[in-house]
Amino acid sequence: MFCKSCGKEVKDEAVICPYCGCALAKIAVDGKTEKPEEKRKINVLCLVGFILSALSWILALFGTVAIVGLILSIVGIVQANRKKERLKGLGIAGIPVAACSLIYTLCVLIIQFSAALLY
Ligand SMILES: [Zn+2]
Repeated sequence: MFCKSCGKEVKDEAVICPYCGCALAKIAVDGKTEKPEEKRKINVLCLVGFILSALSWILALFGTVAIVGLILSIVGIVQANRKKERLKGLGIAGIPVAACSLIYTLCVLIIQFSAALLY
């Protein structure tokens, strides 16, 4: 092959040009195999967990959905940590959303229960 820098012919297996000391094209190709910035996958569990947590505020069965959302968010965070996936923040955000929804459900249940006892 030929040196990109000085144009002289060098050995194919050469890493540095013996004429100009320039790094040869081969090194650039090898460098590419290191994958400079691999696109990180998104963590689906974090996403679903957050959506369920948010939905639990709207859906009639909010208590149950909130529990599922909470579990999925926690599992998603653990997975995202291990696999270095994205959306971990969303999973973290899902936890207080689900927790508040659960507390709200509990309050509604207690109010309904005490109302049933009173009347
Ligand atoms: Zn050269």
